[in-house]
Amino acid sequence: MKALITGGAGFIGSHLAEALLEEGHEVYIIDDLSTGSIDNIDHLKERKGFHYVVDTIMNSPLLAELVDKCDIVYHLAAAVGVMLIVESPVRTIETNVKGTEEVLKHANKKKKKVIIASTSEVYGKSSQKLFREDGDLVMGSTTKGRWSYACSKALDEFLGLAYWKEKGLPVVVLRFFNIVGPRQTGRYGMVIPRFVKQALHNKPITVFGDGKQSRCFAHVKDAVDALIKIGVTEDAVGQVINLGNDSEVSIEELAIKVMKLANSKSEIQYISYDDAYEEGFEDMLRRVPDLSKINKLIGYKSKYDLDDIIKDVIKYYREH
Ligand code: UDP
Repeated sequence: MKALITGGAGFIGSHLAEALLEEGHEVYIIDDLSTGSIDNIDHLKERKGFHYVVDTIMNSPLLAELVDKCDIVYHLAAAVGVMLIVESPVRTIETNVKGTEEVLKHANKKKKKVIIASTSEVYGKSSQKLFREDGDLVMGSTTKGRWSYACSKALDEFLGLAYWKEKGLPVVVLRFFNIVGPRQTGRYGMVIPRFVKQALHNKPITVFGDGKQSRCFAHVKDAVDALIKIGVTEDAVGQVINLGNDSEVSIEELAIKVMKLANSKSEIQYISYDDAYEEGFEDMLRRVPDLSKINKLIGYKSKYDLDDIIKDVIKYYREH
């Protein structure tokens, strides 16, 4: 199989590229290095069957040529990270909406399968105990920048599903729930790389809000396994599917766990949401996926727990 990964020099994209090459597939990646890094794919450059282009997916003729060469497109190129979204809303909205339009338009010419990376952010302020794919999405006001990310991704989902329904383009939408692991950067706000770096330098661990908000973290290796399996599962086409881990941890507990595993002398520093992001910032207090759909489709079960993830991230930052 020949796979194109948009955003292939990013955190998840680079792990996916590696896993596909391991399975003997040919991999093409396109990345403009806006949030990805060439360092993430340095070790792949000499591998047989690996091809990369540093360019934007807005380069329409180039994207058309790459899509044409491949059998499947993993569309991972996007502006992600709550801090990036709050700081650069124009870039977030344009990259996420226009980029997906381009990918779907070109894939549709020869009906190439597209796997769209979406996010659990789309559930917004939903108060459901478990987030199910057919549950309501509860967005905040358009005056609060954070929600532009959720809305841009929801629009990507609508567009992908519309291409499937109206034009028969095979599309799968995957909603990622806090996928973490080595190579993820803390630059755009992601909590685990930030806490690990702070702990390793014995600096204060910056817990935003009261730390009682919780998340479920999944190892990127589990996510990549699922991405590959979903790509070859016929029944997944036309579906929206949650992907993550369903064991929940509060951010305060996470901070304590990271300090312990890193043998750190850090202390927790509580910072208000207004100071951390922007005035009036709204966080999601809980975000737990219902994983029954993905279990049924591919027998998904996460192999790695939070301790494995934190240990791997500590190891990565000690080496880098
Ligand atoms: N967070 C935190 N300290 C940080 C970075 C993030 O307490 O230095 C919190 C953040 O406010 C959120 C949680 O950790 O409640 C997860 O944040 P992240 O940006 O990793 O993911 P998302 O908000 O998309 O779930």
